[in-house]
Amino acid sequence: MKLKDLEVWFVTGSQHLYGAKALAHVAENSQKIAASLDAESAIAVKIVFKPVLTTSDQVSDLCRQANNAKNCIGLVLWMHTFSPAKMWIAGLKSLTRPFLHLHTQFNRELPWSSIDMDFMNLNQAAHGDREFGFITARLRLPRKVVVGFWQNADTVAEIGTWARAAAGWHESEHLKVARFGDNMRDVAVTEGNKVSAEIQFGFSVNGYGVGDLVDRMNQFSDSEVDKLVAEYRDSYTIAEKHNRPASLLNAARIELGLRAFLEEGGFGAFTDTFQDLHGLEQLPGIAVQRLMADGYGFAGEGDWKTAALVRIMKVMALGLKGGSSFMEDYTYDFSGTPKVLGSHMLEICPSIAAAKPSLEVHPLGIGGKADPARLVFTAPSGPAVVASLVEMRDGFRLVVNEVDVVQPEEDLPNLPVARAVWLPRPSLKIAAAAWIYAGGAHHTGFSQALTTEHLEDFAEIAGIELIVIDADTRLRQLRRRCR
Ligand code: MN
Repeated sequence: MKLKDLEVWFVTGSQHLYGAKALAHVAENSQKIAASLDAESAIAVKIVFKPVLTTSDQVSDLCRQANNAKNCIGLVLWMHTFSPAKMWIAGLKSLTRPFLHLHTQFNRELPWSSIDMDFMNLNQAAHGDREFGFITARLRLPRKVVVGFWQNADTVAEIGTWARAAAGWHESEHLKVARFGDNMRDVAVTEGNKVSAEIQFGFSVNGYGVGDLVDRMNQFSDSEVDKLVAEYRDSYTIAEKHNRPASLLNAARIELGLRAFLEEGGFGAFTDTFQDLHGLEQLPGIAVQRLMADGYGFAGEGDWKTAALVRIMKVMALGLKGGSSFMEDYTYDFSGTPKVLGSHMLEICPSIAAAKPSLEVHPLGIGGKADPARLVFTAPSGPAVVASLVEMRDGFRLVVNEVDVVQPEEDLPNLPVARAVWLPRPSLKIAAAAWIYAGGAHHTGFSQALTTEHLEDFAEIAGIELIVIDADTRLRQLRRRCR
């Protein structure tokens, strides 16, 4: 998937009162802004200029076209002049694409010595956009409002962030999630209503017997499996004690089967459970890790919500520096500045590896299967977000915590899994309490590429509740809000 294949349409509203000459100016200015935004590297999608709209019928036509255009993931709307907002009602009510309301002005400076009424008539977004803002507020439409001169870096960055969220939403609406087996028995937070999720997010989740996967694995020849093991040996460090050919061959066969199953079914995310592995000799470890590194969403124990979230986060992060992974708050260090050791049984994505991963084969404490192969590494230092999608009684909630990844204080010679160590903001004490009050899961999507703003924009588009835990979080306020 390439973000440059996706389009955001740049749409300007006006009216006929200004006359043809003024409208020609409006179109010319809008074209320049659209071309400039399209050329910005901070905006990963295509920005496409659309003719200026001056009537209700034109607005409705444009919205219909946007709804039907496969590659159109959203609109940027701007009122260069005054565009009486009743003309937007029918169109906006029918619009199924997300939109960003850009509040900008073609000129940066006021021409103090030459300003006249013609200039005032042409450059009146200051009140034209307020008229438009009223109707979007009155219609209670999800939207992002960005204010600033169109060449300013912060304006461009905010549009770029929203465009990535819109791309994530586009993915969400088309995503298929494969679930091998069911939920880890008796676990609550990984359960949920798959029909509600499809209504809210568009993504579908369907179950498959693990035997279907085993069948697909067994269609690969030994030489194909050998070839993949050779690739493992080229790509990762393997210490002599982990050089266990039978285990590597088995892991490689699982990867070939999984990859083929997902490709052939058009899936973008998947989940499995260690309680349902009939016909698999080991829990998929390196296979899942490498598929995640190639962009698939994943979460363990039947957790389809987190699997979908990880895929959506990976799409939003395409091309950005830093990786994104399935993650779990695993254990704490309460000494010094309290911190979290995040990991999972096996399945952490090597896109967050600071250095070349080592391929290791260790026993798994639970599940009673053969020793699985997995990649072991540590995430690099820097800011990150962890996000959890949970289903509450009245709908879905996205809980986000801003964190700072640090390096482990000592070597971890006996820890057989990939990991990230982080300091939650504002502190573990407040962040973990806030997370628990908010009902956030133990599973998360972790990203060193995305920021809260990406997830905030996504939550707005998706129409779900967002709870952010950051440096400014006050526990008393958060607790009141969650109640
Ligand atoms: Mn887990």
